[in-house]
Amino acid sequence: MKVRILGSAPQSPAVRQYVSSYLINDRVAIDAGCLGFYGTAEDQAAAGHVFLTHSHIDHCASLPIFLENCYGLGPQCPVIYGSAHALDSLQNHLFNDVVWPDFIKLSAHMRPFLRLQRLEAEKPVEAEQLCITPVAVNHVVPTFAYLVSDGQATVVFGADSGPTDRLWHLTRQLPSLRGVFLEASFPNSMRSLAEVSLHLTPQMFAAEVAKMPPATRVIAVHIKTRYRETVVQELYDLGISALEVGECETDYNF
Ligand SMILES: [Zn+2]
Ligand SMILES: [Zn+2]
Repeated sequence: MKVRILGSAPQSPAVRQYVSSYLINDRVAIDAGCLGFYGTAEDQAAAGHVFLTHSHIDHCASLPIFLENCYGLGPQCPVIYGSAHALDSLQNHLFNDVVWPDFIKLSAHMRPFLRLQRLEAEKPVEAEQLCITPVAVNHVVPTFAYLVSDGQATVVFGADSGPTDRLWHLTRQLPSLRGVFLEASFPNSMRSLAEVSLHLTPQMFAAEVAKMPPATRVIAVHIKTRYRETVVQELYDLGISALEVGECETDYNF
């Protein structure tokens, strides 16, 4: 399985991860923070399955642009997957005829822009030969992490979450586990903010890693740009053996 962390400014890979999007085998996206700014329109249309973790704008900001770019390319419209809360949020706050035309309503009357598919926690779905299982995690709005398996390797996308247990309970039962993308939003000095906003600091990150099988490959992502140097140093200071700091526009193979 190939996973690319999409860059917020793809022509400049050194630019940090301002928003969240991950592309799996060029075909399936986790979140759409910057998916609509990636590659060519044809590249975007190839990514016809988009799994939203939650409603926050850093995870769905470019979704309207993505759908606009893809329209009419390919035999089928993109499918957007998410919890009832995330899909309702798209209708109420993005496709509301104010921020953007109501692509959901328009799709009922013309060639569709998108199809919505509501997910239930721990009910797997198939897309592009991948089995994708949503798991509820601990964030300020309803949020899904995703377990993504190609039959040989399973990769976990932890989404935004404070300390959580069910995800790691399920992960410990996966013999095919090959990697985890885990957030590390704030430096240790901002633990109180991490706790109220349900994110992780490096110290809290280490506590989550301790819940995983030993020596799991962990890739730190969702680092707040303005604290990146501090967070990266604090992550390396943890001494976690299989830790990597995620880099945009880089392919991770599992
Ligand atoms: Zn969030
Ligand atoms: Zn976020």
